[in-house]
Amino acid sequence: MGILSDRSKYAVNPIREEDVLAAQLAEQGKNVIKLNTGDPAKYFKTPKYIIDAYVRALREGKTSYGSISGLKELREAVVERYKRMYGLNADAGDVIVTQGLSEAIAFIDGALINPGDSAILFRPFYPIYMPQLFFYGGKPLFGDYIEEKGWDIDTDSLGKAVKGAKKGRIKYMLVISPNNPTGTMLSRKTLTEIVDFANEHDIFLISDEIYDEITFNNAKFTSITEVAKGVPYMVMNGASKDYDATGFRLGFMLVPGTDKISQKVKSKMVEFAAMRLSANTPAQYAFAEGLRNVREHEKSVKAMVKSISDRINFAAKLINESEYMHVVKPNGAFYLFPKVDFSKLNLRNDKEFTSGLLKEKYVQITRGSGFGKEGYIRIVGLPPKDILEYSINKINEFCREHKKR
Ligand code: PLP
Repeated sequence: MGILSDRSKYAVNPIREEDVLAAQLAEQGKNVIKLNTGDPAKYFKTPKYIIDAYVRALREGKTSYGSISGLKELREAVVERYKRMYGLNADAGDVIVTQGLSEAIAFIDGALINPGDSAILFRPFYPIYMPQLFFYGGKPLFGDYIEEKGWDIDTDSLGKAVKGAKKGRIKYMLVISPNNPTGTMLSRKTLTEIVDFANEHDIFLISDEIYDEITFNNAKFTSITEVAKGVPYMVMNGASKDYDATGFRLGFMLVPGTDKISQKVKSKMVEFAAMRLSANTPAQYAFAEGLRNVREHEKSVKAMVKSISDRINFAAKLINESEYMHVVKPNGAFYLFPKVDFSKLNLRNDKEFTSGLLKEKYVQITRGSGFGKEGYIRIVGLPPKDILEYSINKINEFCREHKKR
């Protein structure tokens, strides 16, 4: 018997799988362009009013463990945000603060999944949901975002996804909107159909809305909180994207229902949170200020989203001029998810594409198969236009050099 557990094989993150090689190349003096991690704080400074609040908390000695579910004033600020933005009536007791939304994902599977249970995920999805599900012996049932429908979900295919699954063993259905990797969002109609489906099949609904304020190109975002009336659900969000503070490692779960299922989930989440004592205390003070100071927040998020939309639109245009790729124009988040025309290339799959691109052109992107969608690549569209242009040119050059002859 080896030292490692069998399930440890699931510990993978395709977004960072080439990080070691990228670092080695950079050490050798290569100009490595990293378009693999969706980190706005690398390109846009975390707003000063939030930084000031963080420093103030440190200076005031707010460095002890905090309360299990999170700082009360932060949870109250979360509730106020959802009231202001989506008209939701919730209570600070409905909020559990986590160390990044990533920690919430681990809590969810730990709390809900028995070996053999399943969860409905829609492909392509943010990759971390899969390993966490596998750790607990769960299995995914797949629905699909449909490229031809602008990456909206085909709710008719949902019946097929759950066919044969035992009632009560589908523990949750997850939606991500705006979605990573496609940068697109679900329509109100689709979300409503998803809610109806969850209702009909007694499935707990989980909505990851970490990009809910990063929307553009006149798209209208709908939150699950606006349409999930009467269905047990959880919405998740955090400091990383809208508040441009990835390194704070703060997220939250909001479970507003008063029904039995919501109550059970909520109290179990608090027990999970208790096992790691508390989230980062000074960062919670800073995030609370980020949420409460609506005027400052709106100023900074507006400026950031304006730059992001300019960059994404610019990159989408360049990609769609390429002979080798095509992308659905995003209207949220900050990713581009082009389909690669492998019929023109001497490359077998997206993994060969992304690792070849890094080795030969020093541009690091992520393979679509890491998001459950083979044949695509994900490009982070956050850097300034000259870097995006340089990188897309390099991708085209790489394709030309690997063209079928
Ligand atoms: N959910 C989605 C859809 C994401 O894209 C990301 C990060 O890129 C996360 C969750 C993780 O967020 P956090 O930084 O709060 O752990």
